[in-house]
Amino acid sequence: MSARGDTRTRGGATATGGRGRVVVIGGGLAGIAAALVAADEGAEPVLLEARPRLGGQTTSFQRSFQGGSLWIDTGQHVFMRCCTAYRGLLARLGVTHLTALQPRLDVEVLIAGSLTRTRLRRTRLPLPAPLHLAPALLGYRALPLVDRLRAALAAFRIGRLDQRDPNVDGDSFGGWLERHGQSAAATEALWELLTIATINAPASEASLGLAAKVVRTGLLDGADAGDLGWPEAPLQELHGDAAVRALTAAGGTVRTGTKARAIVRTSTGWEVTLDGGEVLTADGVVLAVPPPAAAGLLPEGSGVDPAKLRALGVSPIINVHMIYDRPVLDGPMLAVVGSPVQWIFDRTVSSGLAKVGPPGAQYLALSQSAAEEWVDQPANSLRALFVDEMRRLFPAARDAELLEVFVTRERTATFRQAPGSLGLRPVQATGLPGFALAGTWTDTGWPATMEGAVRSGIAAARETLATMGVSGITLSTTDGGPPGKLGESLGGLPIQSAASQPAPSQPSAGQPAPAQPPAGQPAAARPVSAQTVTTQTETSKSTGGFPV
Ligand SMILES: Cc1cc2nc3c(=O)[nH]c(=O)nc-3n(C[C@H](O)[C@H](O)[C@H](O)COP(=O)(O)OP(=O)(O)OC[C@H]3O[C@@H](n4cnc5c(N)ncnc54)[C@H](O)[C@@H]3O)c2cc1C
Repeated sequence: MSARGDTRTRGGATATGGRGRVVVIGGGLAGIAAALVAADEGAEPVLLEARPRLGGQTTSFQRSFQGGSLWIDTGQHVFMRCCTAYRGLLARLGVTHLTALQPRLDVEVLIAGSLTRTRLRRTRLPLPAPLHLAPALLGYRALPLVDRLRAALAAFRIGRLDQRDPNVDGDSFGGWLERHGQSAAATEALWELLTIATINAPASEASLGLAAKVVRTGLLDGADAGDLGWPEAPLQELHGDAAVRALTAAGGTVRTGTKARAIVRTSTGWEVTLDGGEVLTADGVVLAVPPPAAAGLLPEGSGVDPAKLRALGVSPIINVHMIYDRPVLDGPMLAVVGSPVQWIFDRTVSSGLAKVGPPGAQYLALSQSAAEEWVDQPANSLRALFVDEMRRLFPAARDAELLEVFVTRERTATFRQAPGSLGLRPVQATGLPGFALAGTWTDTGWPATMEGAVRSGIAAARETLATMGVSGITLSTTDGGPPGKLGESLGGLPIQSAASQPAPSQPSAGQPAPAQPPAGQPAAARPVSAQTVTTQTETSKSTGGFPV
């Protein structure tokens, strides 16, 4: 890491050898992207993060297990092929190989009522978008045929909605589905499968505008847009650690454990006061912290209404982590409909369990979005609910020994992506030249995702650099529309075309293969002990979200 930034030094051309200093406050994905763009455009970024590590909501912690240690992500993260800015960031950080990306969308879905399985799978036929969607929907046996046909029609209709129309954003997705002939079963087994995970809200509480964005960009705009990707390494290694390396190599400064307390405009630039009283000077500032923290740090004259930021609210996500002594799940992930369980991911390799755990042990993370009903429940009742449900859903779980169960709760996982939320999200540019906002909650048109965070960081850096005159970048639109050209190489974040990144669904090089049952034996048929023992239950504190 480079020197810890000058105190009370001018950040302008003289102090930085003509590069211009940008102080970026907040080391989540938005701040990381902003700092990298600044570095790649020739400015000198100083990235401040209140916590001990970069990564923000995308963090991991270590937990001892049977004499070794596991990496636990505070929440399972997934992305889609259409997340071009996020994938560009992965490429810029040199960590694409630590992720998997499906060659074609393929989600196995367990129907809890009948304990049968179906798939939402992109056809191999080279059908152009949006026709590619028809075979996937028609083959989705979680719904009666008539519901599948109605769903296909609704998908095409929703794709034509203008998410920026206040009437669309102000409407609820659930209300729209009802008015367009979608049964309760279709809402639960199809639409909420998509939107609870991406918008972190049930259909009845989700903005129709954001749902339209997800359906259009993720499913309709490109045949391969919705192919799913996920980390195959701990999030800390994938984002935070890689960002420190990349920023340092690019001449930037990273200061973790450093909280900004105030931002003031001066006659020559900016001053950022830190906890403890130290003052940093800069030519530009990007504020990339969560909404409540941003509301408290807005400098005079920004034109941003702090009341709107506070009104964005929060929605929680919890993860229930279970370590079994044997394989229970037979794929990398599974979606469940008709059950409290939503999505299950196999974390055996990425957590390190494959190396330190007993042979054959499997670590499953249950990712539970829109988690209001669970977030305040005691760990014991969550354990009872989810352990019992896993036993009901998976024959192999009935006899397996449960070596460990614990819960991570992210109370402030996302802002509340409710009807009308678009009007509360400010654009990145502010009324003050050289000062811009970033964060997944700013207006990118995207839901609160890693993609939204990275796009916001790129846009904010561009706004700031443009007013500093760095690289002659011109200002992007500030009329409430989405900033242009996000995620392209101008921001220093090269974007790979979909075709240029084949999706490895096998373990990364150097990583052991996931634990498998003996050849010829399906997981459920393996001999198992008769006892199920939960040795430990624990609830971690929120480690990734805001406020700090
Ligand atoms: C459990 C969970 C699961 C999720 N799943 C997905 C998923 O599957 N796919 C997906 O795309 N997205 C997912 N998300 C959302 C995604 O993680 C976030 O949208 C994104 O990481 C937010 O990035 P950010 O930079 O905007 O904000 P943050 O990550 O919140 O970063 C803000 C940073 O600012 C720091 N900070 C605050 N105040 C100060 C201060 N005064 N001085 C210095 N630093 C400060 C904070 O410590 C924090 O590190 C999930 C989130 C959670 C919590």
